[in-house]
Amino acid sequence: MSAKLFACKTKIVCTIGPASDSLPMLEEMLRAGMNIARLNFSHGDFTVHGDVIVRIREASARTGLPVAIMADLPGPKIRIGSFAEEPINLAIGDRFTLTTEDIIGNREIVSVSLPQLPQAVKAGDILFINDGLVQIEAEEIEGCRVHGQVLVGGSLRSKKGLNLPGIDLGISAFTEHDRACMKFALDHGVDAISQSFVNRAEDIVAVREAAEEMGYSPFIIAKLERSSALDAIDEILQAASGVMVARGDLGVEVPIEEIAMLQKNITARANYFGKPVITATQMLESMTHNRRPTRAEATDVANAILDGTDCVMLSEESAMGDYPLDAVQMLVKIARASENSRHGHETGQRAKRRIAGSFIKELDFIAAGINSILGQASGIGAILSPTNRGEMARQITKLRLPIWVLAISPSEKTCRELLFSYGVFPIYELSHPEDWTELGKRYVRELELPGNSILQTEGPSDDNPERHHKIELIYTGRR
Ligand code: PEP
Repeated sequence: MSAKLFACKTKIVCTIGPASDSLPMLEEMLRAGMNIARLNFSHGDFTVHGDVIVRIREASARTGLPVAIMADLPGPKIRIGSFAEEPINLAIGDRFTLTTEDIIGNREIVSVSLPQLPQAVKAGDILFINDGLVQIEAEEIEGCRVHGQVLVGGSLRSKKGLNLPGIDLGISAFTEHDRACMKFALDHGVDAISQSFVNRAEDIVAVREAAEEMGYSPFIIAKLERSSALDAIDEILQAASGVMVARGDLGVEVPIEEIAMLQKNITARANYFGKPVITATQMLESMTHNRRPTRAEATDVANAILDGTDCVMLSEESAMGDYPLDAVQMLVKIARASENSRHGHETGQRAKRRIAGSFIKELDFIAAGINSILGQASGIGAILSPTNRGEMARQITKLRLPIWVLAISPSEKTCRELLFSYGVFPIYELSHPEDWTELGKRYVRELELPGNSILQTEGPSDDNPERHHKIELIYTGRR
């Protein structure tokens, strides 16, 4: 089967659920542009996830289209317990108690899954239940009970989430349950792990060490949804393989009016480090039940792309919505319409200035060199980047180039990890050829790339660690 270029340079993450986990739908979503399938381990049991992993691989084999599978670990999500009758309705000024005792709740009290709650909370703290739709101000701590008053009233059902914005719970993001989920997911061949409620870089180190103990080295995405993580963003970016702007919980943990600026800042920091960033949650929310998105949603997706996101993600839209395929197709359309405007195409000087302030590495200079060649030459259809671990391709693509980076790797793992990077088309070739010109010509033809030449990068490899980085222009013939 000959290679076919992806529908857009922005990478598309789809959460898989009952609406999308059949083989025909997975095949259609892959054909429409899905690059990464996300399995949310907060829902579904292991048997279901195991079966879905098999079907995703089957869909990939049948369509000949690559896919990365990402297992999303729940982390220490705090939830309230059950109510005897529901919903319960709370009005402003009502007294309400949260307790660590294992009880069935009512209009006055409910249990909470966090044993440390009474130690972590003090009088005056605000507790957000069900995404902040109900808010309780803590007034008095008595043993294992936190008594409070309702600040924002509403109706509550069993098992809703509880957020404690700005409160350090002193617990690791990586829980024993996460360890069990990760072991299952890695044993069943997933490529990436996303960790919820990361506070600091040590949380990612804990995930990586646990994976290594199990004999794996997955791509690890830090989900940024706690305010503490935002203070440690650079350290987290250096420890993780990439990050997710998890706007669902982030929108509860920080004032919602600050989300836009935080998203822009996280995206810029991730670009700076050459690490992929996923923009997630409510991207096309209304498409859960409508065939078309709102203008605001379409604009939100476009803006995330213009700001430099690598991936855009569907949650409920693809997991349990009525139009999962339409949602993927809509993301592709918005991406294609926006990507041409994303290429600010920095001049050599600007890139050098930006990189001079960056952590200086040989790779950064190669990336800047590519940028300045592209500024001067025309007719270059793509960059051919042989790579073992994908690092060179990730550094190049952070320059937001107007052309594709064809990353050729003998590692299928690297190819799947590069599915997280904007503008990178991974090509799995077991052996690196002697004659790059011939290979370049072949891909220019197969992928129907414009131009009459391609740039090829070269750098150290496992067999030749001493080799320096260099860039070469390969003439591929007039098209
Ligand atoms: C989020 O909070 O935005 C998110 C992606 O995480 P989850 O879907 O696990 O709540």
